[in-house]
Amino acid sequence: MLLGCIADDFTGATDLANNLVRSGMRTLQTIGVPAAPLAADVDAVVVALKSRTIAAADAVAQSLAALAWLKRAGCRQFYFKYCSTFDSTPQGNIGPVAEALMDALGARIAIACPAFPTNARTIYMGNLFVGELPLSESGMRDHPLTPMTDANLVRVLQAQSRARVGLVPWTAVAAGEPAIRARLAALEAGGVRLAVVDAISDADLHAIAAACADHPLITAGSGVAIGLPENFRRAGLLSPRADAAELPRVPGLAAVISGSCSQATNGQVAHWIESGRPAIRIDPIEIARGTDVAAAALLQAGSVLAFAPVLFYATATPEDVKSAQAKLGVAEAGALVEQALAAIAQGLIARGVTRLVVAGGETAGAVVQALGVAALKIGPQIDPGVPWTATQGAHPILLALKSGNFGSRDFFVKSLALLET
Ligand code: ADP
Repeated sequence: MLLGCIADDFTGATDLANNLVRSGMRTLQTIGVPAAPLAADVDAVVVALKSRTIAAADAVAQSLAALAWLKRAGCRQFYFKYCSTFDSTPQGNIGPVAEALMDALGARIAIACPAFPTNARTIYMGNLFVGELPLSESGMRDHPLTPMTDANLVRVLQAQSRARVGLVPWTAVAAGEPAIRARLAALEAGGVRLAVVDAISDADLHAIAAACADHPLITAGSGVAIGLPENFRRAGLLSPRADAAELPRVPGLAAVISGSCSQATNGQVAHWIESGRPAIRIDPIEIARGTDVAAAALLQAGSVLAFAPVLFYATATPEDVKSAQAKLGVAEAGALVEQALAAIAQGLIARGVTRLVVAGGETAGAVVQALGVAALKIGPQIDPGVPWTATQGAHPILLALKSGNFGSRDFFVKSLALLET
């Protein structure tokens, strides 16, 4: 085991794991800190926490528990993954978690680099840009939990850290690995422990990763990870392999569950229905009336499922969602739908489904919990940020967990077709 990662949310963990797999590392994603040691033969593990917006002390405790588990698993280098928009508040949790992990690892300096140029997140002179806009002028300024009102990451990180924060400016990054190393050494000599690093291209990310080859801890978005497998290959620790994304072949049936009401998912559901594929709608009002909607839907799917994948969807237009929420309450409507879809997932697995596409972040969380999934081996990418995954154990299930706005219009069809090849 080479790389041990701690991610502060679930879809962020998948994003990172996906990047590692695409760069040739066999990667497992765990849901929370596993209770037992690892059974799988992989090169990297990403522990997915839900620590982005909890109290800083709790985030630190959970991250240290994850670190202890990853250390016991034998990891050589550690990675703290946060959002590419540096989602945090003046209380944390990026600074406090980074410092706690550094202390536990005896790291003298660590980089802080959320840049992900492929997704238009770039950093120049310490300022984070989302597309053409400074972070503080992007939609993130109005985020309900982590509003980002300052684009200057040195200031943002300093406000939540005890340690001194410095900058590796793009002029050093563009000059390449030796210049980055030199700048980091100078910062360290000057008492800086956390160094925000500029990056505007994938070439920058590769140079930064190379310069951090011997850092015990890297703190970053998912971008810097694209350069890490090369470090391990150069050190002779990772052999070039074409099978990093390999998943077991599992015979069985396929289905799609959609609880996301985002624009992209509405398009994907429409695409499925328009192409004449079987689909069953789940109505929150019907659930609230006390009908066992999950059982009814599974009965309705009945024998069709044996011949074709069936879509179960609560996905609705913004007007329909508002109308259901007005009648039932926002949280109540969400919870009722999540419970019904999770029960459908359990019923589908019991009926022989082994390939399941799930749309919606919260929905995916509910399904994964209902199925008792502890860890997922990351497989081939379907669309940017969304890979196929496989549960561990003697009878693996293949899961594609798509957060709301990800994926092309034909995502559901494309996902299932990818497994046929
Ligand atoms: P996304 O990733 O698009 O945000 P989520 O699954 O995270 O999707 O969130 C969607 C939420 O909306 C879930 O809590 C889900 O149960 C709820 N929901 C789904 N369909 C409906 C509906 N028709 N009416 C009201 N709420 C719904």
